[in-house]
Amino acid sequence: MLFVEDLDVKGKTVFVRVDFNVPLNEKGEIRNDMRIRASLPTINYLLARGAKLILASHLGRPKGKPDPALSLKPVAKRLSDLLGREIVMAPDVVGDEVNKLKAGLKEGGLLLLENVRFHPGETKNDPELSKKLAEGIDYFVNDAFGSSHRAHASVVGIADFVPKCAAGYLMKKEVEYLRKALHSPAKPYVAILGGAKTEDKIPVIENLLNKADDILIGGAMAYTFFTAQGFSVGKSLVEPDKIEIAKKILNKAKEKNVNFLLPLDHVLTSSIESGTVVKITDAFPFPEDLMGVDIGPKTIAKYSEIIAKAKTIVWNGPLGVFETPAFARGTMKIAEAVAHSGAISIIGGGDSIAAVEKAGVGQKITHISTGGGASLEFLSYETLPGIEALEKK
Ligand code: ADP
Ligand code: MG
Repeated sequence: MLFVEDLDVKGKTVFVRVDFNVPLNEKGEIRNDMRIRASLPTINYLLARGAKLILASHLGRPKGKPDPALSLKPVAKRLSDLLGREIVMAPDVVGDEVNKLKAGLKEGGLLLLENVRFHPGETKNDPELSKKLAEGIDYFVNDAFGSSHRAHASVVGIADFVPKCAAGYLMKKEVEYLRKALHSPAKPYVAILGGAKTEDKIPVIENLLNKADDILIGGAMAYTFFTAQGFSVGKSLVEPDKIEIAKKILNKAKEKNVNFLLPLDHVLTSSIESGTVVKITDAFPFPEDLMGVDIGPKTIAKYSEIIAKAKTIVWNGPLGVFETPAFARGTMKIAEAVAHSGAISIIGGGDSIAAVEKAGVGQKITHISTGGGASLEFLSYETLPGIEALEKK
């Protein structure tokens, strides 16, 4: 895979796929511009070297047609502020008018395309759209790590129609950290997995069973594992169709001698909406009308002890319903333990990142991935469609 620094970009038209899929509020204002900032190294590098720069991104899910609420205009404004210069925003993604703007670019000039998902061909990876995106382009640079688990036209398809492709700085950084965690982690290697979407996390667990020394489970996912062991967990969130695979994972962990830990105690409530703790327990069965919403103090102590000795930590998924103050303690304490461990720590997942920011320890995490789904998929399969597209060139 080529890196952007391997390209001779002066005077060349460079199409950069960035991930400007930023969260917006009800008024359409940008709530957090971390993703825009994360793409600045590549943008600044190319502009300084005299490239003619075209930026493309999606924003939200516009269903294949223009949706003014999901225009990249607010992003253009923020990017212009961050770069301290005017930037030209194209009215569309492809077409005559856009081609005219592309052709009119000067060295060091910058054109931001409209939301690529305004075209139905984007998510279908339609070769027609890919070809049009590639019109007049000398190099394709993918810096959109957070979108690279999607085989879409501006991420994957375009690579077939551009003579040379390369990874940008953000892509390189993400891949380097995650590859290191997968292939040459300093030991002990501890994985912390929680959250609600067991489905997405199972392949991650399966892969980490071959690599990690300790796997610490929390969040709703734990209750699918307890159910698999025959314990009654009241009305805790369980994914019934994942029970069989949970059993297999428990067996495999034993076989592989991985220290696979489930919570030792639980914070129980009658409902998440109530926002109050009914009791803390270390025993099954849970009362029928109660559900587990956080790890208890014994679990915090045990997990923190293991985390303190770790040299590498991968964390995805909060350990409880951290959005509710009464159920946030486990996640906050684990965030502090990770921050103070001195280990190389890597965090991915939208809610996990929010939790770490909430705990105020974001600065102490070695690498906060800009991609939630992408980082999970990378940890599961060790590559992504967007990376494969660059590698096959
Ligand atoms: P990420 O976005 O970091 O990948 P997920 O989306 O998988 O994480 O899970 C985050 C969600 O899981 C949070 O909204 C949190 O409230 C929820 N959650 C965590 N623990 C529990 C639990 N015990 N019961 C129900 N929901 C939980
Ligand atoms: Mg989430």
